[in-house]
Amino acid sequence: MITTETDATHDPARRSWVESAEDPASDFPLQNLPLGRLRRPDEAWRLGVAIGDQALDLGAVAPLLGLADPELERALASGDGNALFALGRPALRALRAAVSALLERDDARLRDDAALRARALLPQAGLELGLPCAIGDYTDYYASVHHATNVGRLFRPDNPLLPNYKWIPIGYHGRASSIVPTGTPVVRPHGQTKADDQDAPTFGPCRLLDYEVEVGAFVGAGNALGAPIPLARAEDHLVGLVLVNDWSARDVQKWEYQPLGPFLAKSFATTISPWVVTLDALAPFRAPAFARDPGDPRPLPYLDDPDDQRAGAFDVAVECWLASARMRAEGVAPVRLSRGRLADMYWSFGQMLAHHASNGCNLRPGDLLASGTVSGPAKEHRGCLLELTVRGQEPITLPTGEVRRFLQDGDEVTLRGRCERPGLRSIGFGPCAGVVVGAPGA
Ligand code: CA
Repeated sequence: MITTETDATHDPARRSWVESAEDPASDFPLQNLPLGRLRRPDEAWRLGVAIGDQALDLGAVAPLLGLADPELERALASGDGNALFALGRPALRALRAAVSALLERDDARLRDDAALRARALLPQAGLELGLPCAIGDYTDYYASVHHATNVGRLFRPDNPLLPNYKWIPIGYHGRASSIVPTGTPVVRPHGQTKADDQDAPTFGPCRLLDYEVEVGAFVGAGNALGAPIPLARAEDHLVGLVLVNDWSARDVQKWEYQPLGPFLAKSFATTISPWVVTLDALAPFRAPAFARDPGDPRPLPYLDDPDDQRAGAFDVAVECWLASARMRAEGVAPVRLSRGRLADMYWSFGQMLAHHASNGCNLRPGDLLASGTVSGPAKEHRGCLLELTVRGQEPITLPTGEVRRFLQDGDEVTLRGRCERPGLRSIGFGPCAGVVVGAPGA
């Protein structure tokens, strides 16, 4: 079942004693409570929840939470994100309710315990925010029909969308080892490229470096090998969402992608935001599945479910901001390059997960499924430079007068995500940022 019902944890009138959580601009009010992993320098990883500009150490406050669930208490004490995610939705919902109560304005247990607060409530600015868990497998989809059409048109003007697109969620197996948390520098990759007017390829630094604005879903409870997950139960196997920047070397991609798809053009780095916004936090921000055109095929039965059609999408606005090195040096504010909407995706995360497991493939706690570039019908919705600049033909001029077709060394790309609806407390994802640094030896 898709959870759209709300409870006391979503109540917009609910306040926290953590002051910074009451800032309306904060991504992390009491209604959000995303999960992540954090540590102070030279300490072990701990599981935490973001609240305002602070992080709550879940292991330190576990005795106060009254969870009555030994497995959950063990997971919190261990600092092991995979162990926490493996417990599935009911345990995560119980944790959310308990943390919400602890941080609520009138709850004195932690609020009035200065010694415990000093250990358990830590400014995020002084912490290292890591990946939320060990990511065993990473799959990247291609779920935006607008992105697929825009990119397809660059290569096949008369036939932009391939015939399988509206039948099957297209994806590829990505590289989990190079997924990094926000703030990690991204080294411009070397690769093999071939210009159209050359007979042979050359090897050197990528010249057409791009970002891709995406959203990823973390797998919670897994499935046994050989046991598919029906779409109606797909969300029982998801924990929540993060922002994903699928850095892409377009010149490498162009030469290598046929016939087996992306490889080294994608595997050099993928940046994610460190806080997992849970499906329970997102319950009030669900949206109907993509509105198909009358001529579009109905999904095959294993990808068709009334609940998914009703509320399978997420209403998340995702933005991409750019600041060149010169802009930062001169104190010029970042510029917004795009603003898309996750609800514009052709396929839902439920459909992507059900499809992934439909052949019996086993998904494991902590696997990451990314959406593919989030693009919409208008130019301002385009979630990568390949689309925005039409492969460099329509360059972007920055406030400093600098021109961008693709990314230059020193460019900082920051993705932001936010859920906003009238009558609700807005929640966000925190930044997903990375600075491009020059290739070594280049
Ligand atoms: Ca991608």
